[in-house]
Amino acid sequence: MNYQEIVDTLFEQIKSQENKGEVASYIPELSKVDPSHFGICLKTMDGREFGAGDWQHKFSIQSIAKVLILSWAYKTLGDRLWERVGVEPSGNAFNSLTQLETDHGIPRNPLINAGAMVVCDMLLSQAESAKDDFLSFLRNISGNAHFQYSEHIAQSEKSVGYRNIALCNFIKSFENIKNEPEEVLDFYFHICSIEMTCQELAQTFMFLVSDTIKSFEGKIILEEFQAVRVNAIMQTCGFYDESGEFAFRVGLPGKSGVGGGILALHPEQYAIAVWSPKLNSKGNSYRGMKFLESFTSMTKSNNF
Ligand code: GLN
Repeated sequence: MNYQEIVDTLFEQIKSQENKGEVASYIPELSKVDPSHFGICLKTMDGREFGAGDWQHKFSIQSIAKVLILSWAYKTLGDRLWERVGVEPSGNAFNSLTQLETDHGIPRNPLINAGAMVVCDMLLSQAESAKDDFLSFLRNISGNAHFQYSEHIAQSEKSVGYRNIALCNFIKSFENIKNEPEEVLDFYFHICSIEMTCQELAQTFMFLVSDTIKSFEGKIILEEFQAVRVNAIMQTCGFYDESGEFAFRVGLPGKSGVGGGILALHPEQYAIAVWSPKLNSKGNSYRGMKFLESFTSMTKSNNF
């Protein structure tokens, strides 16, 4: 398969079409991003790499980081995780408060904001310095020692994070947050602030493509059964109330972020990162969804 030709063809094709949607404006720093950016990076299991457009331009990965924090938590805490967060799709927006009332503060899954906050809380209770330890985990699995939190993006979100502040306090009222909400939110905003290029993002997620991929330290990152389950959660919950649509059109486990990035992967084959900042009404990259739909159909790599 000539992957470079496919990536280039689809890139040109989608770039020539209307770019619909809106850049996330509720986080001031994100609203400043040029909406015309468009980049793709495909990384295959056998180590090949194919890029197009702005694939080496950094952007804020936002909610895509929820998969990384989940993986680290699964590795450190094991199945204890599932006592405090579920594995069901929510069918609701990423920042919704509604189900928490009836679910008594147990978030439906770890990929909505509420769920990621509970995961952050568990890690804060476990680690001496969760923020530093998570960065070490990230640098170790990606082999990239330069990954950092973006202080200005974290502070920008914190300055207007009223809904997330409400979410965290609400969960605390059900006693499913053990630490101070301020501390949990600080950790949460920081993991969301991390910036990567499409190339770095695809590279970082190779550990979920195959369990034989080792960390920088030469160790298996997640056990096979754990990687399979993280992929299952991405497949069913990675796009909030558009997870069904993503499975229907693209057919891969994946995760989106309001920075306009989408990471999707095909177990044992490849990881692919797409970035285009304009979002559809569900908060998922308009061009990212379009590109991936065409890509899996052209390469016949839809999981189903
Ligand atoms: N930091 C963002 C928020 O909490 C992440 C949301 C997202 O990327 N969908 O609103």
